[in-house]
Amino acid sequence: MKNILLFGAPGAGKGTQSKKIILKYGLVHLSTGDILRSEIARNTELGKEARTYMVKGELVPDNIVIEMIEQKIKNQSNSKGFVFDGFPRTVAQAKSLDDLLNKNNTEISFLLALLVETDELKKRMQIRASKENRTDDTPDVIENRIKVYKEKTAPVADYYKKQNKYITVSGMGSVEEIFAGVSKVIDKIFI
Ligand code: AMP
Repeated sequence: MKNILLFGAPGAGKGTQSKKIILKYGLVHLSTGDILRSEIARNTELGKEARTYMVKGELVPDNIVIEMIEQKIKNQSNSKGFVFDGFPRTVAQAKSLDDLLNKNNTEISFLLALLVETDELKKRMQIRASKENRTDDTPDVIENRIKVYKEKTAPVADYYKKQNKYITVSGMGSVEEIFAGVSKVIDKIFI
């Protein structure tokens, strides 16, 4: 299986690039943010609990997201591979993901980090707030999401660096320019 971990700060363009990657390479998109928002939209118990964290820009507890991902991987175990988007967001999640993939005789192929300057991240999230009506794209919550990213999620990059699986690509510029860089990396590794 080809398993790509698309990594980056909130607003880095992970969702946008994931959608293009899965179309070009025939992989399955797994976005914990999308799954959680769909739980909220369906007003499930899980959704109600997750919402209390998401509106503040805090992370949903590890056990909840790990269980969700486990289920999704099980349901799609025949796929060519996954693009993980917004997961793992803590080192504990990364360790669980490695275990989970190992159990399925596969592993993370590489982590691809989209590098975007902080001012640009804030600009993009403000634009997204008006387009997508996301309750977690308000200025205060944006600040907190960036803080949580630096404290809890950035160490995930170091975790995969130690496994020699860390690759960066510029996340600045147009969607197509960024995707050209992303594709170049994927082609080099998989073809
Ligand atoms: P995203 O759409 O990936 O930006 O995620 C939106 C929000 O969902 C985050 O700010 C978190 O509150 C929550 N969330 C998404 N993925 C995770 C995760 N892997 N671990 C914890 N919380 C998450």
